[in-house]
Amino acid sequence: MALTGMQIYKQLPKTNCKKCGFPTCMAFAMQVAAKQKAISDCPEISEEATTALSEESAPPIKLVTIGAGDAVFETGQETVMFRHEDKFHRKCGIAFKLESTLSDDEFRAGIEEINSRKYVRVGKEIKVELCAVELDGDGSAERARLAAGASAVPIILVGEDPAVMSEAAAAIKEKKPLIYRATAANIDDFIKIAADNELPLAISAGTAEELADFTVKAKDAGVAELLLSFKGDKVGDTVRFTTQVRRSALMSKFRPFGYPIISEFESDSDETETALIAVAVAKYSGIVIMKGRKAWQLMPNLTLVQDVFTDPQVPNTVDAKLYEIGTPDENSPVMYTTNFSLTYFSVAGEVERSKIPAYICVVETEGLGVLNSWAGDKITAEKVIQTLKDQKVADKVKHRKLIIPGLLPVFKAEIEDLSEWKEVIIGPETAREIPGFLNRVWDK
Ligand code: SF4
Repeated sequence: MALTGMQIYKQLPKTNCKKCGFPTCMAFAMQVAAKQKAISDCPEISEEATTALSEESAPPIKLVTIGAGDAVFETGQETVMFRHEDKFHRKCGIAFKLESTLSDDEFRAGIEEINSRKYVRVGKEIKVELCAVELDGDGSAERARLAAGASAVPIILVGEDPAVMSEAAAAIKEKKPLIYRATAANIDDFIKIAADNELPLAISAGTAEELADFTVKAKDAGVAELLLSFKGDKVGDTVRFTTQVRRSALMSKFRPFGYPIISEFESDSDETETALIAVAVAKYSGIVIMKGRKAWQLMPNLTLVQDVFTDPQVPNTVDAKLYEIGTPDENSPVMYTTNFSLTYFSVAGEVERSKIPAYICVVETEGLGVLNSWAGDKITAEKVIQTLKDQKVADKVKHRKLIIPGLLPVFKAEIEDLSEWKEVIIGPETAREIPGFLNRVWDK
């Protein structure tokens, strides 16, 4: 039976410290009772209280940790079907697959490639999160060891032969790789390998009923960390399977499906695989294995992961302050924008690309972009003028030219009338036009 808010509250520290994001312990307890939060979201709760509340208060989807030390990836513990109901707690991890057919040199190069696939987008790092090593016959344990020594990200051991998997898993168990994947043909052996080495296990089955039987069996054998594996080549199958699993876990609290999902796709077409991965990212996969490793396949899906797994209730902001792009001096251009991070980083990136050092004055707009902040009354000409004063922008340059966003030209006259910035230049409407614009209007 589910715990009530009061039963949960009794186990909490009752200090109302707000570290969980709620104003009181009681408010937090009500959220846990409604399965909207996990008890582990209270950083102050004692171990005894956690144990006491464990089974019933456990989140409907278990948290699974792959990797050890600095290379750790967590998935699961999701609480909602749709992002707008709260947020998705743990981002989907993209894994690159290194196939067993690679030569040793190609394999090493593949690991290096995985380690280096990191990018910064809107101020946050996005990257390949896992290295999936395909095992096939002799030399598999050596491959696993090589990956364990060289990979900067956690490892997934990919194979279906129990003898091969057993050797490879034992060889690198201290790195806590994921064993991928148990099927009807090897389920007993793979459960034993996972239990003996205390490793997480991905399980796949032909039907939902069989999958539920397998996860119960694995749990009873002591394998606590499981993933539900889906391998297919059709969009409809993907969405049907992942939605059914998520819905059963969250809405019906069906514990045998209370685990994160790992997906992989069988396709000879890079384009099809890339599109299917996007569907899996959007529809509930905790990990997706990619066979194609080209940048054009990776980037859209990393971008999608970042967008889907951003908390929709927390504006993505940067500090409202004066930013220096390059090494600007007293003759450099000055412009302003809002503190919505996507807006700021788009503008900053394009200014950098222009090769003209500049000052960007960021106005506090509660994380809204240019037009939204104007529509929501979060930005006015007076506020821009005040921000320029507060940030002492006039002390940085000897000119009084101000470039303003092309989407908001209406401030021009007011800024010129009410401030010392007597030459207001209307900039482009989109960030990508900034390099051409600056090189055209600014005398270097
Ligand atoms: S973090 Fe824990 S102790 Fe602090 S207010 Fe939240 S529930 Fe209470």
